[in-house]
Formats: sequence, C-alpha cells, structure tokens
Amino acid sequence: MPRQMPLAPTEVAIIGAGIVGAASAYYLAKKGVPVTLLEKGSIAGEQSSRNWGFVRQQGRHAAELPLMMACNKIWQTLHQELATDLGWRQGGNLRIAVDEERIAVFESWQRLAAEYGLDTRILSATELRDVVPSLTLAARGGMYTPSDGQADPTRVTAAFCMAARRLGARIYEHCAVTRVEVGGGAVRGVNTERGTIMAGTVVCAAGVWSSRMLRPLGLRLPTVWVRNSVARTEPVAALTASAVWMPGVAFRQAVDGRVTIAPGAIAQHDIMLDSVRFATKFWPALRQEKSSLTLRMGRPLLDDICGRYGRFTTHRTLNPRPDPVALRVAVDAFNKRVAVDQTVRVARSWAGYIDMTPDLLPVLDALAAPSGLLVATGFSGHGFGLGPIAGRLVAEMATGCGVDVDLKPFQLQRFSEPATPQPVV
Ligand SMILES: Cc1cc2nc3c(=O)[nH]c(=O)nc-3n(C[C@H](O)[C@H](O)[C@H](O)COP(=O)(O)OP(=O)(O)OC[C@H]3O[C@@H](n4cnc5c(N)ncnc54)[C@H](O)[C@@H]3O)c2cc1C
Repeated sequence: MPRQMPLAPTEVAIIGAGIVGAASAYYLAKKGVPVTLLEKGSIAGEQSSRNWGFVRQQGRHAAELPLMMACNKIWQTLHQELATDLGWRQGGNLRIAVDEERIAVFESWQRLAAEYGLDTRILSATELRDVVPSLTLAARGGMYTPSDGQADPTRVTAAFCMAARRLGARIYEHCAVTRVEVGGGAVRGVNTERGTIMAGTVVCAAGVWSSRMLRPLGLRLPTVWVRNSVARTEPVAALTASAVWMPGVAFRQAVDGRVTIAPGAIAQHDIMLDSVRFATKFWPALRQEKSSLTLRMGRPLLDDICGRYGRFTTHRTLNPRPDPVALRVAVDAFNKRVAVDQTVRVARSWAGYIDMTPDLLPVLDALAAPSGLLVATGFSGHGFGLGPIAGRLVAEMATGCGVDVDLKPFQLQRFSEPATPQPVV
C-alpha cells in the first residue's frame, strides 16, 4: 500500500490486531457491520502470539469468572466456527500446592467455583499423578478444573482475522493509528500513518499501548508493562493433557508433543515513566506481588525519556529479551519434577510485555465521553483465554445490542477510586 492514501470510511475502526481486536473485527463483520482493523506491526505480533496458551477459568476473579465460563463454551467449538485447527486441547488446568497454606487458598477458590457450578475439585497428592503420571514433586495436593483447556496462540488471532476478512472486514498491517479524532464530544475516526479513516465508532484494543493512545484524549488508563519469558521444547513423549502450574514453573504440552515452559508468576517490570506516573495506583499490587516481580531499570526507561514510545511507529513490534536465568530455573524445575526420564531440548525462547492494571482486571467499556469510543484492553496477563468473549462483547456494545453481563467491574472510571488488586490464586 502507498504510504499516504485515502482510506475508505468505515462504521467501526479498531486499533490493534491482537486477539481482542481481531475477535472484535470478526464478531462485527459477522453482524454485517463495516469494520476496519488497523495494526501498527503484524497480526498478533505482541502479547497475543507470545503467551503461554492457557485457556483457564480456574483462579479467575469473581467478576471475570462468569465471562470466562461463557468464553470456555465458545472455545470448545471455535475451531469449527473459524474452520481452522487452533491447537485446542481440553485437558484441564492443574495448580499444584506444596503446603497447607496454598491448599487453603485453593479450597477457598473452589467454593467460589462451586457457586457458579464450575467443575473444579481439590486433588490429593496421590490423585495428582492421575493427571501428571511422571510427577516427582513432593506435593501436598492440587486444584484441578477438567473443563479448562489450551490453544496455540500463533494460530488463533490469525484465524479470527482470516474469518473476519472472509466476512468483509478490512485489515491493514503496518498501519499505525497516530491519534483518535474527536469533534463535538464524539469520535470522528482515526488518523493513521497512511491517512485518515472516518468512523462513527473507534475501539481501542492496543494492548500495552492503549494508555498512550488514550492520554491525548484526557483519559487516564493506569497500566504498566510487565515482562514474562517463555521457552518451547522439541517434541517429547506424552506427559499430560492438562496445563500445569506449580511453584517455579508453568507448562503445557501441545498435541504435537512440544512443551511450552514459563517461570510461572516470576516476571520483570522494566521501570518506565508510567511506573512513576501511576506509582500510587500500583503500590498495593506491588506489595502483593513483591516475591515474584523484579524491578529493572535500563534501556526501556531511556527510550521512554527520549520519547521513543510516544510515536506508535518507532516500535512496530515489541520484542523484549527473555530472562535467561528465570527460564533456566523453570526448565530445570520441569526436567526434575516432570520430564524425569526424557531428554528435553529447548527449541526457542521469547518474552512479551503484559498490560497490567492496578486491580489486574481488564477495561471493557463504552465511554460516555467521547461517545463512540470503546476500550477493550488491560487484560493483565490472562486475556488470551478471554479474547473471544471480549470480541463478542465489543461487537454487542458497538451495535448497541443488549449486553447480558455485568460490565461495571470493567469500567475505566473505576481507576478514579483507590485500587484493590485481586488475590492471585
Ligand atoms: C508471556 C505471556 C504469557 C501469557 N500467558 C497467557 C495465558 O497463558 N493465558 C491467557 O489467557 N493470557 C496470557 N497472556 C496474556 C494475553 O496474551 C493477553 O492478555 C492478550 O493477548 C491481550 O490481547 P490484546 O489483543 O489485548 O493485546 P495485544 O495482543 O498486545 O495486541 C495489541 C495490538 O495492538 C497493536 N497496536 C498498539 N498500538 C497501535 C497503534 N497505535 N496502531 C495500530 N496498532 C497498534 C500492537 O502492535 C498489538 O499487536 C500472556 C501474555 C504474555 C506476554
């Protein structure tokens, strides 16, 4: 496409082709709504292709659980709906505890699950081996949700985009939105590096960039970037169909035998200007996560001070460095506790930045001012699982259809109140 060209007006312009933007485009196109999806880099270049692929209801905040349970139903037939193999595997989600304190946390969450009729149950140390037969960890027990699943992040967003295109959606990669155009209290469209697109509705699904996109409109979205590292092995013999999380390591084995391994909750926060700007908002979350979150000061801060994140064209696709130490510890833990009789070779490793909000809940909101602006972002490290339903809700909000879920906990204006992070299960 030439660098500058008039882009056709549309009804809905979506900023960001991660899973949320792509699913929104699909469900809008399915309703027959003219929609244009704009991506500054390539489809799913950031969080949506870099995540672990866990699709879990387990451990969710009470506000998110009904949404995720509805989304689990979507996942079960999504590969048929999108006519693509998504690597979907409904083998459950297992969290393993090594002490009584953790079991008590699981028991408390299991009571919430029972209220909603979710199939989560507490397993004894012996029962854990029914799910992961080769487990050698001296565990106290675990929490298991058989209806949970996993999918291949590299396939899902691309499949949403392909299906959306078949239904008439326009999708442009390497086309950064530089600002949302507003006039008379309502959105008018978006300005992109290739020209302006008039649109009556604009959806901000820009992941870690959303806060920067909304700021010129006078909207304050407190998010910080948290870096998480991931490794993937060559195929190994069958270990378990469940996604598993135990102290020091989280993993899942795809149907092709490859294992995705991550250091669980261990993550880095690269200090940037927003870390200072939103420090008071994040203080409670920081205290809660202090054992798993390392603060780093380096190049990202320098880039931020120099204004390199202000333009959406400088970083087409964020590709942060994985943490070699955290990954080595995780892979060692996996080898010692699970893959005991096999040689496991790491084929590749990567990292991704997560858009973390102070209460670890997303924003899913149709704003009153400016009208026509929808925000679907801040999924705080667990938005891959929620992506399909987030897209469906965006389509419902954009078309003014009744949304039959309570979206109050996900409103942007909640950040004017002091934040309480959800307890991490
Ligand atoms: C390492 C890691 C592990 C994770 N594990 C899991 C997991 O197991 N399960 C789970 O449920 N979730 C997981 N997550 C979280 C999940 O990946 C995210 O919540 C989800 O992908 C968010 O999707 P998104 O569409 O909101 O954002 P993104 O995928 O980040 O997409 C936003 C897109 O917007 C584009 N963009 C930004 N600004 C502009 C602009 N100005 N113009 C045009 N385009 C723009 C970006 O380039 C990007 O492609 C993990 C995340 C990471 C990083």
